[in-house]
Amino acid sequence: MKILVVNCGSSSLKYQLIDMADESVIAKGLCERIGIEGSKLTHQPAGKDKFVAENPMPDHKVAIQMVMDALQDKEHGVIASTDEISAIGHRVLHGGTTYSESIVVNEDVKKVIRDCFDLGPLHNPANLMGIEACEATMPGKPNVAVWDTGFGMAMPEKAYMYAIPHEYYDKYGLRRYGFHGTSHMFVSGEAIKFGGLDPKSAKVIVCHLGNGASISASIGGKCVDTSMGLTPLEGLIMGTRSGDVDPAVVQYICNKEGKDVNEVLNILNKKSGVLGMSGGVSSDFRDIEAAKKDGNHLAEVALDAFIYRVAKYIGAYTAAMNGVDAIAFTAGVGENDKASRKAICQYLGYLGVKIDDAANDVRGVNAVISSADSKVKVMLIPTNEELAIARETKRLTE
Ligand code: ADP
Repeated sequence: MKILVVNCGSSSLKYQLIDMADESVIAKGLCERIGIEGSKLTHQPAGKDKFVAENPMPDHKVAIQMVMDALQDKEHGVIASTDEISAIGHRVLHGGTTYSESIVVNEDVKKVIRDCFDLGPLHNPANLMGIEACEATMPGKPNVAVWDTGFGMAMPEKAYMYAIPHEYYDKYGLRRYGFHGTSHMFVSGEAIKFGGLDPKSAKVIVCHLGNGASISASIGGKCVDTSMGLTPLEGLIMGTRSGDVDPAVVQYICNKEGKDVNEVLNILNKKSGVLGMSGGVSSDFRDIEAAKKDGNHLAEVALDAFIYRVAKYIGAYTAAMNGVDAIAFTAGVGENDKASRKAICQYLGYLGVKIDDAANDVRGVNAVISSADSKVKVMLIPTNEELAIARETKRLTE
């Protein structure tokens, strides 16, 4: 069974064709600058040379057609015809309060994706375009929506309600949703398997630390709390996002700088985080670490604050669950940066967390990085959102 996984942004489309027999990636690629001049497809078939095509892609439908052509091409193709593709799995950002579980797309599902355009203004329209492009290009094939907000829907009311007038929840569904759900679901599940934990009761904290960063607490794979909120802006300090701030900061900057709310929100989303804190060094954690090594004080503070915020959340989530069995690190920083992992865990001595330096000297593979006498199992679990989407698609269409 071969499954195509599609992740559409407003001007991009990432794809992977996965053979579910052994969960291997047969081909993957990226369409960039859809609807903009200079469109480009980069197609990487497994074991063959990369192929780049620079043809105009006015919309996602043309992009999907180019992907289909690349997949079936005589030279760099990997399938004889689209008949070999059993189903298509789509990353969809927002399912609102309607959907927590992945679902085979029908007209009702598309209506919900549309109804949630306000909640996911950049992603939901693109996700819907991707689904409709696949429906047009491969009629009759099942499309499955896997929601980035799905995992967070299991949060109890005390975790997802904001302490603001209730009418806004009733009128607009204004609540905490959480994002990176597919990653948190995948990594918490893999951590339970890899760590040999009880799948029904394991208390797991997943630290998804990349350019976008979020943290979740789950018991037996069900989300108890997660750090992103109505939008991905809440929670941890990220590459360019501020994470938690006093909302009065917005009003203060508006008044002092003569800006409107949208401009300040743009600053909090795109110019803050370690980029903003470091005085503009970079949003890339490798650059921040290099600047810190060169003696840049602001870069040092940015990195310290990033680590401190993660440690604070781990403490909060341990309290939320009345304990923690395992902490799993994932995504760009979590998978590659042993120094950050260690620095975070140094705050956690009171929980009986002990890191084994030799075991922590690892990147990009499943690993236990805590010592044998650590009270909490600390792990590195590489995330794989495409595989998680493919597994969900298989489960629902087999
Ligand atoms: P996203 O998917 O949110 O764009 P990723 O999960 O790919 O982000 O993570 C990207 C981040 O990971 C970048 O900021 C990059 O600097 C960081 N990163 C990658 N490798 C390392 C490393 N060895 N040390 C520190 N940070 C790293």
